[in-house]
Amino acid sequence: MREIYLDNNATTRPLPEVVEAVRAAMTEGWGNPSSVHGCGDRARRLVNEARETLAALIRARPTEIVFTSGATESINTVLRGLADAARGTPPRIVITAVEHEATIECAAALRAGGAAVDVIRVDELGRLDLAHAEELLSKPATVCSIMYSNNETGVLLPVTRIAAICRDRGIPFHVDATQVPGKAPLAVEELGCDFLSLSAHKFGGPMGTGVLYVRRGARFRRLLHGAPHEGARRAGTENVPGIAGMGVAAARMAEGIPARREHLATLTRRLEDRLLRIERTRRNGAADERIPGTVNLSFAGIEGSAVVLTASREGVCFSAGSACSAAQFGGSHVLEAMHTPFEWLHGAVRLSCCADTTLDDADQAAAVIERSVAYLRSMDPKAASGRG
Ligand code: PLP
Repeated sequence: MREIYLDNNATTRPLPEVVEAVRAAMTEGWGNPSSVHGCGDRARRLVNEARETLAALIRARPTEIVFTSGATESINTVLRGLADAARGTPPRIVITAVEHEATIECAAALRAGGAAVDVIRVDELGRLDLAHAEELLSKPATVCSIMYSNNETGVLLPVTRIAAICRDRGIPFHVDATQVPGKAPLAVEELGCDFLSLSAHKFGGPMGTGVLYVRRGARFRRLLHGAPHEGARRAGTENVPGIAGMGVAAARMAEGIPARREHLATLTRRLEDRLLRIERTRRNGAADERIPGTVNLSFAGIEGSAVVLTASREGVCFSAGSACSAAQFGGSHVLEAMHTPFEWLHGAVRLSCCADTTLDDADQAAAVIERSVAYLRSMDPKAASGRG
């Protein structure tokens, strides 16, 4: 059975050249990059090359790149570091209601430790309430953290507008750009952020490797204490194979963005054209303010997780909400923040494409999903009749 993988917002298949770069790093560049001998030298060269490539991807200076274990660590470093560094008044953190758990749970832990956390609302299409953002950012804050595009709906958040407000008020600003590489250009100067987080496995790189961009001169406190790696900003021996692989993936993502976007937009339209024809189905999120490639739909009367399991028996892989919330079988906090009515909340699925997804994949996946929905509704007469 051929598998059709439409869960690229959860993780991406590593690119073949990434697998090769990881293999090469483990066979030839396995030294400790802090060692002064030849073995260390080879590992250090791999790390430095990747640092240059990652810097080029987001138009930063190589010295502004800190390698981490992924976006979760990067986000925790910024939020906790700035909260710890706040002197005098208790820290105040501003986030949005649709952030990834990495941000929401970190903010919750800081709140338990005495920080104030204010959450910017979104509307029913997942768009940020700018007036609410302005109101919350009119008071002093320790840090504001928002995502560039939402991992469940693909909806874009107005990062440059928020950056301008933060700059005016002197509030450090972090962008979670985890879902963006390869799908939109990333230039930190244009975004106007002080910090930006990435995770390699979301763009064809290996898991367990990520980036934290720290603007030169930005106030910063490290999360992990130990030996002074990464310019004393992150302790722990660098994950050289992961970093080397991420560098290769970043080089690929920096190229061909317009063509990739066009292809992803075509796939999005194709999937939605087919799936929205299914009775009592709706789209979640603003159709015209999304990063291309992510489709979030709800089927009334059935559970999204049941559709996922039924379709997976025919080799089609996607998720109900985000992979993280799906694992808990709860409703998505993103769709809840969008005031999605109960019957739509539980029937939500997310399909996310990549550059290698074909139109034939989209058609076949749509056919399987259509069959799965019909089957599940036929099992429950209430769902079939619309009274579920
Ligand atoms: N931020 C966003 C928007 C994400 O989609 C994810 C992963 O799903 C993360 C942060 C966390 O990434 P990781 O689990 O690689 O640390």
